[in-house]
Amino acid sequence: MRSLSVFGATGSIGESTFDLLQRQGGRAAFRTVALTGGRNVARLAEQARALGAEVAVTAHEECLAELRAALAGSGIAAAAGTSALLEAADRPADWVMSAIVGAAGLAPGFRALAHGATLALANKESLVTAGPLLLAEAARHGARILPVDSEHSAVFQALVGEDIAAVERIIITASGGALRDWPLERLVQASVADASRHPNWSMGQRITIDSASMFNKALELIETHEYFGVAPDRIEVLVHPESIVHALVGFADGALMAHLGAPDMRHAIGYALNWPARAPLPVARLDLAALGRLSFQAPDPLRWPALRLAREVMASGGTAGAVFNAAKEVALDSFISGQVGFMDMSGLVEATLDKMVARQSLGKAATSLDMVLQTDAEARAVARALIGQNKD
Ligand code: NDP
Ligand code: MG
Repeated sequence: MRSLSVFGATGSIGESTFDLLQRQGGRAAFRTVALTGGRNVARLAEQARALGAEVAVTAHEECLAELRAALAGSGIAAAAGTSALLEAADRPADWVMSAIVGAAGLAPGFRALAHGATLALANKESLVTAGPLLLAEAARHGARILPVDSEHSAVFQALVGEDIAAVERIIITASGGALRDWPLERLVQASVADASRHPNWSMGQRITIDSASMFNKALELIETHEYFGVAPDRIEVLVHPESIVHALVGFADGALMAHLGAPDMRHAIGYALNWPARAPLPVARLDLAALGRLSFQAPDPLRWPALRLAREVMASGGTAGAVFNAAKEVALDSFISGQVGFMDMSGLVEATLDKMVARQSLGKAATSLDMVLQTDAEARAVARALIGQNKD
């Protein structure tokens, strides 16, 4: 029986994963090793009971008593905190879903590779902050990383049976997010609620806001470059409001292979769960005649400066991705808490990158996970200080 763990089980990706596991036989079909969550302890316990998990872990120490109470009598172990997350990742499992949001998801996924797990990687921050380290760790232990981001799953599928050397370009699509059709001059006034209404996808709040600012696509450009090893100038972003075509791969002979599907993350998750086989999935089937038309447009650099920043990060290499992601997380936190405006986020990220360049700590490749985490902490401190200065 296949064993598995889900990191970030209570989130949007985690819930979709749980849904598929239940539909594919639940505890009769899988041995669940660990499930982890954050503050939603009641839901974590519910999932752990349903799947008969060995251990349930909350990221927060102060939630442990509540988790224990919710699991009373079940025989499922409860644990809390960062070290408990890592211990859960050390428990061997054949398949591990990495779906914690943010840089916090990096270390658990990295640890799971050490026992040769197939890592279903939704946490794009892992590749952005530590791509080369993560891929080297997977290679060292004979582990496999399967992309779960919809665009990257689409590219992965378009490449089945193909030679990566024949790839001329990769195009990832972007819906444009909640504010795509707002007049440019109005964007400075966008509220958290405005930016949180995604036109097509139902996702966690953070990635939804990142879709409106295109920071999500900026991360995905870097993710594409890291995962597939394709040069940055061969990776393009295309705005596609309907979110039906997820990515396209162009080959040396001019052929363009597109992946189409309803905007439902259960496709990419299910593909990674059943790979290399394809199993029936509960996603809507497309009716192209009913859709009528699909539209595409080039992204506006003034509206979405995050895309230019991602290209600068890829050109810089080294730890620039870790700085970029950390600064982006601080900027997003500050937007959500009302400290900075929607259009201030990219300025803050750019200023953080500039400061870190001045410290000459960018360009160097990270040689360890600790170095990545240290860069992450340093960049967060710089970004927070910049916010403090601007308020004075
Ligand atoms: P959510 O915010 O919905 O869920 C995040 C999960 O991580 C929850 O289980 C949450 O626990 C847990 N969590 C939050 N903070 C921490 C922390 N500091 N330490 C440990 N666990 C924590 O996120 P999504 O599911 O939307 O996204 C997860 C990842 O997948 C992200 O990296 C995102 O970029 C990526 N992704 C998501 C897509 C989507 O459609 N949602 C699409 C493609 C990629 P709790 O809720 O209990 O507090
Ligand atoms: Mg995506």
